[in-house]
Amino acid sequence: MRKRICIISLCSIISFTLFSFLAHAEPFGWKWNSSKISNGKLILNINGDYVSSSYNDKVQSAISAWNGSGAHVTLTGTGFSSSYVDMTSVSSSTWNSNGWGSSVNAWTQPRRIDGTACATNYSNNNCGTGDTINYAAIYLNEGLVPSTSAKREAVLKHEMGHAIGLGHSSYINGTIMEAALQYGYNITTFDAQQVNSIYP
Ligand SMILES: [Zn+2]
Repeated sequence: MRKRICIISLCSIISFTLFSFLAHAEPFGWKWNSSKISNGKLILNINGDYVSSSYNDKVQSAISAWNGSGAHVTLTGTGFSSSYVDMTSVSSSTWNSNGWGSSVNAWTQPRRIDGTACATNYSNNNCGTGDTINYAAIYLNEGLVPSTSAKREAVLKHEMGHAIGLGHSSYINGTIMEAALQYGYNITTFDAQQVNSIYP
């Protein structure tokens, strides 16, 4: 498993005021490799040791929310050496020098099993159907932390949704995968169904 910090274009909770009208949430199309799937359920070892105090009180609640959502996924908190989803807080200076966008709260970078990063244009992702994922990094912008506790937790749930395999969606009953989290902060039945369309 390869672990490295990377600089790629953005996936985000950027505050777009305009975005295309999508009919519904869209799984990226890729799947985690079969070693992460047990009895049809996706098991993701996730590490939050490098999450700052801005978010670290929300890591477990976000994990628990996914585990209780009805989605066929179990997020398991583990140490860095055994994780394959790593969450890392990034200083605003580093964030900005990386060109990740000062209006972006967070983003998630999945990687194929060969280590290559997926493109993060979510309307045309090059880790699509047939691709196999073996690692994802979640980056959190210390320069733009939501002021409310509920939204901080929502940011983590949203990014975990990307790591599971969901792209952005427009408003459907407040889906957690709406790009700007304008309509809801909870994982909905719809979100769980989208996960279960990938991992039935
Ligand atoms: Zn997003």
